[in-house]
Amino acid sequence: MTRTLTITSPIDGSVVGTVPRRTARDVRTAYSRLAKAQREFASAPLAERLRVTKLLATTLLENRKKLADLLVREIGKTPAEADTEVIRTADIVTGTIREAKRQRPEVIKDAGNPKRRQEVGRMPLGVVLAISPFNYPINLAITKLAPALAAGNAVLWKPSTQGSVVATRFAQGLYAAGFPRQLLAVITGSGSELGEALVTDPQCGMVSMTGSTETGQWIAGRTGAIPLFLELGGNDPAIVLADADLDLAAKHIVGGAFKLAGQRCTAVKRVYVVRSVADRLVRKIDAEVAKLGPAGDPREHPIGPLVDDSAARRQRRLIADARKRGAKVIRGGTVHGRYVEPTLLDKVPQRAAVVREEQFGPVLPVIRVKDADEAVRLANDTEYGLQASVFSRNAKRARAVADRIDAGGVHLNGPDQRGPDNFLFTGHKGSGLGAQGIRFALESMSKPKTTVTNR
Ligand code: NAP
Repeated sequence: MTRTLTITSPIDGSVVGTVPRRTARDVRTAYSRLAKAQREFASAPLAERLRVTKLLATTLLENRKKLADLLVREIGKTPAEADTEVIRTADIVTGTIREAKRQRPEVIKDAGNPKRRQEVGRMPLGVVLAISPFNYPINLAITKLAPALAAGNAVLWKPSTQGSVVATRFAQGLYAAGFPRQLLAVITGSGSELGEALVTDPQCGMVSMTGSTETGQWIAGRTGAIPLFLELGGNDPAIVLADADLDLAAKHIVGGAFKLAGQRCTAVKRVYVVRSVADRLVRKIDAEVAKLGPAGDPREHPIGPLVDDSAARRQRRLIADARKRGAKVIRGGTVHGRYVEPTLLDKVPQRAAVVREEQFGPVLPVIRVKDADEAVRLANDTEYGLQASVFSRNAKRARAVADRIDAGGVHLNGPDQRGPDNFLFTGHKGSGLGAQGIRFALESMSKPKTTVTNR
């Protein structure tokens, strides 16, 4: 008999659904089936690969409301956040198809022999293992599935446990629409139980994983010499210089920090502000935070619950630690159950846990600094390097600061974010390995294959 896992809603603890609790043996069986089907799919014409890929988008659009409702209940998103996730993901699939049609083999000439030339084409990798996180269970899975399929791979998808109901419902919709079952298997169950079998199977052609730095590093220590793509945690700083437009900075910082109750890799997680404008900035940030209102049911409040009890308890610990170290609570600071009131902390020391760790909650620490040099030094004093933002009216000064920040991307006078999805997105240091973005993802899910013509 198949064992099951019951998934409950972070909103009110009600049951969202049950999913199979798979075993290492199920993983091996799935790899074998997928590998067999992939060998045939690898030689299918591009039009066939793209027909299959397109079913991802049609299934999303046809099930838009059902999937968005599940994202609300299973993850605790607001209905608007949930709907955006579904629609944006369908657009990524369409963009991936467009890009795949544009790709051509590159021709390189032999400088010493005009008759000799090399054609560089691309080949699929085999079975791609796609591991997705809880915070964008549809988006951060399909940004792997679409390029993998378009490039001719089969996919073994391990969704996060919280998020596995929406994942299995999506897959059911896909199969019902005629998607070939043998090219995609969904393996549900605990990552820590299945991890070893998933990442060390000899039939795994690539691991593409999004999640925490801890899990990513565990995986990196176990895979063999196969392509590895990791999108990991972030602790993104926003730097506000003395000449910044403070209204603009406050608006983007709050938008970036509190969306999805702060549970985003690219959320603004620390603010470094030059002392001379700190009082004014904190007042403006506070006014923006006040507009969010109290945390509550995401169908009625912009700030919903955290994903589980332990995530909320963590915020309580981080707030208490910051207080103990002398930080001032400007707003919020309380936690009830899984709900954390939007919290603004001022005069937080760099050594506070809320600055050192990826807090992943609606808690924003402000650190006051002497000047841009100190801001850059403290912003870089972290194991992470996903994104950052710099606010200054002087474009040259903002750019000079951005160039000194060790992060995959820096936004000038705008919020940290992943999109638009044709932009390259990457993390440095503990924030990851490899690049996302439609074209880059497609390239990463194939390997070069050359043919040399001699006459
Ligand atoms: P997580 O706990 O690391 O889990 C991510 C995925 O890995 C889940 O599917 C999880 O399954 C699986 N997993 C756990 N242990 C595993 C193992 N030993 N072997 C193989 N798979 C394993 O992360 P999360 O809490 O879901 O997501 C939040 C984290 O993701 C944050 O750190 C956030 O910054 C990061 N993130 C990064 C990006 C980016 O683009 N850089 C985007 C979104 C999120 P289970 O759920 O069953 O444990």
